[in-house]
Amino acid sequence: MSDLDKAVTIATPEDTKNVGFVSLGCPKALVDSERILTQMRSEGYNISNSYDNADLVVVNTCGFIDSAIEESMDAINEAMNENGKVIVTGCLGKESDMITDAFPEVLAVTGPHAYEEVMTALHDHCPPPHDPHLDLLPPQGIKLTPKHYAYLKISEGCNHRCSFCIIPHLRGDLVSRPIGEVLSEAQNLANAGVRELLVVSQDTSAYGVDTKYQTGFWDGKPLKSNLQTLAEALGEMGMWIRMHYVYPYPHVDKLIPLMAKNKILPYLDIPMQHASPRILKLMKRPAKSARMLERINAWREICPQITIRSTFIVGFPGETEAEFQELLDFLKQARINRLGCFMYSPVDGATANDLPNSVHEEIKQERYDRLMTLQAEISAELLQEKIGQTMTVLVDGHQDGNSIARSAADAPEIDGAVIITDQQLPVGEFAQVLITDADQYDLIASVA
Ligand code: SF4
Repeated sequence: MSDLDKAVTIATPEDTKNVGFVSLGCPKALVDSERILTQMRSEGYNISNSYDNADLVVVNTCGFIDSAIEESMDAINEAMNENGKVIVTGCLGKESDMITDAFPEVLAVTGPHAYEEVMTALHDHCPPPHDPHLDLLPPQGIKLTPKHYAYLKISEGCNHRCSFCIIPHLRGDLVSRPIGEVLSEAQNLANAGVRELLVVSQDTSAYGVDTKYQTGFWDGKPLKSNLQTLAEALGEMGMWIRMHYVYPYPHVDKLIPLMAKNKILPYLDIPMQHASPRILKLMKRPAKSARMLERINAWREICPQITIRSTFIVGFPGETEAEFQELLDFLKQARINRLGCFMYSPVDGATANDLPNSVHEEIKQERYDRLMTLQAEISAELLQEKIGQTMTVLVDGHQDGNSIARSAADAPEIDGAVIITDQQLPVGEFAQVLITDADQYDLIASVA
């Protein structure tokens, strides 16, 4: 499959200009792609899924780790070979020299969230049709996700300087979107039939820090731009609201009562990265794992149904066996429901590259395997406790005669699923199911 096959196609009249679009990278980049696609459609461009039919191709790149850089360079190469008129945008666009050195014929290179620059380059090299078909644009914009869920990006950039990460270098410091604009987008999505909103940014809990929690307006009412107020307002829109990338600031505690009252989903994606205070300090992360454990316990007291998702890095430079063991001990106590683990790999430009005592690849792999084995046991035990429960699920699709759905505990793409074996339920609709069995990561259910 070519990269362009991953793009969307929308039927339009024949006199429109055709633009190919390749979208790579994380959900934040996906939202950038959606904004650019929305703007293109509002100006009457057609989105083509074939290089041959396209008048020009936009490639939205990712530059997070070396493999993402490679994938992005391959995608640009393919677009250059197959079409030849290419605009490059996204995180890798910050490294414009690398791109123009390799592909001198590229028409333009912009950085991430440079919507206007992309549109200006598009106008220069592929002028829009004279009569934009504004009425073709659905008010919720163009979505690359299935119709029933959507990502809602609330800010760009990040004020932290975690030593393993170059996102602030690529995307700059935090810039929060106005609360009225965010809520207006969310309402449009709700009106269009979206059932679940995944709130994303580089640092969701920092929302509003850069604007000093400026007051905005929504539905004629003044609202402070902070995460709690935003969550409360989103919680009134009748959709599942799922919080991702929540950096562990103290004020995150204020979200938990909203989860207990089912205003937003009892789901917190809170990257912790490690549990050893020394390693956390080297990572330039909050370094109090004992306090983290206390907070997790307090959250579960207030909201027993909460699902905690986190990510951890093993094999960070200088990580000793004792420090890795500290991480395992923390996980045994914290019993995180959903966990992603990465073996540390150096990223060009990250300050962690200068740290001494890098961990041997074999040891990284061995620690990764031990951590994932432990987590598989914890996950299986936690899922066993759900057998016999009735729960609401959102149906994502069908496979092998089963309906594949997700509960409040499962984010799309990264968590487990609820497999309903007795009925093919309508996709994008909620259903009540009875949990009959569980394995390490998924639940088996029948319609209640
Ligand atoms: S909080 Fe996230 S995006 Fe910001 S520097 Fe740390 S890892 Fe990178």
